[in-house]
Formats: sequence, C-alpha cells, structure tokens
Amino acid sequence: MKRILTGDRPTGPLHLGHYVGSLKKRVELIKSGKYDPFIMIADVQALTDNFDTPEKVQENVWQVLQDYLAVGIDPNKATIFLQSAIPEIAELTVFYANLVSISRLERNPTVKDEIKQKDKFQKAVPLGFFMYPVSQAADITIVKGEVVPVGEDQLPHIEQTREIVRKFNSIYGKVFPEPEGLVGEFPRLIGTDGNAKMSKSLGNTIYLNDDEETVNKKVMTMYTDPNRIHANDPGKVEGNPVFIYHDAFNKNTEEVKELKERYRKGKVGDVEVKKKLAVVINEFLEPIRERRAKYEDKNLLVEILRDGTKKAKNVAEETMREVKDSMKLVRI
Ligand code: ATP
Ligand code: MG
Repeated sequence: MKRILTGDRPTGPLHLGHYVGSLKKRVELIKSGKYDPFIMIADVQALTDNFDTPEKVQENVWQVLQDYLAVGIDPNKATIFLQSAIPEIAELTVFYANLVSISRLERNPTVKDEIKQKDKFQKAVPLGFFMYPVSQAADITIVKGEVVPVGEDQLPHIEQTREIVRKFNSIYGKVFPEPEGLVGEFPRLIGTDGNAKMSKSLGNTIYLNDDEETVNKKVMTMYTDPNRIHANDPGKVEGNPVFIYHDAFNKNTEEVKELKERYRKGKVGDVEVKKKLAVVINEFLEPIRERRAKYEDKNLLVEILRDGTKKAKNVAEETMREVKDSMKLVRI
C-alpha cells in the first residue's frame, strides 16, 4: 500500500480552502482503503512564523485535530501525529540541509510570496522559516511518503523534496521513494476578500467550525464584482468569489447555471445570490458540525493523537536507522 503523508499547520481552524484543496481528497483516499495514510499536525513548522505566539500554536493543535475528525478522517484508518513529538524529523532536516543550496531556497516562489505577506519579516527573515521546505522534505520522507495531497501553493515544496530525495539516494544509496503531490479539485480557493488564496494568515476565511450566524455574516460581506454598483448592472461571474463558492459547494448545478445567467444580464442582485450561498455553505457544514460534537472530550483527543504519534515514532526511528547506516555514521 502506498503511504500518504500530508498535514496542516496549527495556526488556526481549518477553512473551506483546506477542504476543497486537500481535506476532501484525503477523506476519499482514506475511504478507498488503498493507502496507508499519515497525517501530521505541523506545530514545529507553525512556529517558524509564530515563534512569538506559542500559545496560538498550542491551542490550534486540538482545533486542527478536531477539524480532521469532524470532516470524517477516521483515526482507526489514518495515523494522525504531532510533528514536535518526532525529533527524528529535526534530525533528518539537519542532514538534508547539506543537500540544498541557499540560492535554491531563495528561488522557491511560495516562500517568496509568504515573506512578502508578512510585515514582521520585512526586516529579517528567520532561518527556520526560510528553510521550512527542507524540514517539509523531512516530514514527508521520515515516513517514506509517496503520495502527498496538498493545495497548489505546496507544489514547489514537493518539487524541492523530490530533488533532495534524488540527491540523497544518489550519494548514499536508495533509501527514499520520490513523492508525488496530489492537488485537489480547487487547488487554490479564492478568499472571501477576492484575494487569490483563502488563508488563515490573510483573515479572508470561512472556517469549518463557523456557526450558522457567522457564515451568514461572512457571506453577506463577501467581495463580489467591484464594478457592479446596482442590481440591474450586468455582472461578472468569472473570478467572482461568490460564484466560485457556488461552483465549489452548491450541488444544484441547474440553480448555479441559472443564477450566473441572470447575474450576467443584471437580473439578480448580490443579496439573493449571497443568501443562497449562505444556505448552501451551512448545509455543507451541517454534517461536519454534527461529527464535531462527538469529539468534544479533550481526553479522547489526547488519546487519538498519542496513539497516532506512537505509531509514527516507530516508523521514524526505523527510517533513521536506515538513514544513518546509509550515511555511514559510526554506530557506537
Ligand atoms: P497559513 O496562512 O498559516 O499558512 P494556510 O491557510 O495556508 O495557513 P496551511 O496549514 O499552510 O494553511 O495549509 C495546509 C494545506 O491546505 C496545504 O496543503 C495548502 O496547500 C492547503 N490550502 C490552504 N489554503 C488553501 C486554499 N485557499 N485553497 C486550496 N488549498 C489550500
Ligand atoms: Mg500556508
């Protein structure tokens, strides 16, 4: 069975972008029974840009775990583990750091974008943040991950991982498989503010744990077609987040088609389109809310994460034995 490795940073609750970009695919792959899935809560990576707010990362570990369970990831079928409890990942990162040049890291477009987005990085970029793609290569390969379901922004990191694997294997002998990224249906879901990516750091999200009222509020204040002032002005559907979300979540394709036609002709107002969207998103979130309610017990969450981490730790120890042997590190 091919091993899956994927994960999320505990920097906030998971949102609709995570769902269509990666979570949905994960749930499907896990249900197929054809894979051995490992899912990592990336708290060490989260600290690379949140080192000064550790309590935020701490709280969100439980939040993200609850989100996983709420979307239907079955902890009996998937190994959910905590990155910081696997020190072997940090060890492997140090070995990989020899195989990557600084200029190669500087060319990573996702890292470049993320640095630009963060005001606090304008003066100085922490080394840990700059090299997180190297650490991500260690996350994937520590369990010999082959399939990595991710959003589009992660593809440069998968490419970086593949390069590291090729270099490692060619110098020290074949230890690792070359992983492949698997992008979901919506590789990059637009934000509620019209920004190209819905992202926790940009504050343009609808969270999977938002209640009905919050969803209604967020949808009603969503960005639409900025050139449309009156309901009877012809509107633009392409690139309009309200319609992109209708496409992503509204199962009634006839209704979506009809709304788009009317919108283009200036025969429907933003309010009606948004009200319908709010209903659709709330319907989509309802089963997630119901499942979440079964995982309110903190002790149960701790137990699930502890079991998964134990399993991942065993795999990581085995990988590191192989790595050290192949790197001819002296055993004493
Ligand atoms: P942060 O702003 O803290 O980086 P994030 O919203 O980017 O948070 P991550 O935890 O970095 O979320 O990403 C987890 C996974 O979800 C990655 O595979 C990423 O590509 C995917 N993902 C995140 N946002 C989106 C989005 N808007 N559309 C599609 N996939 C997404
Ligand atoms: Mg991110």
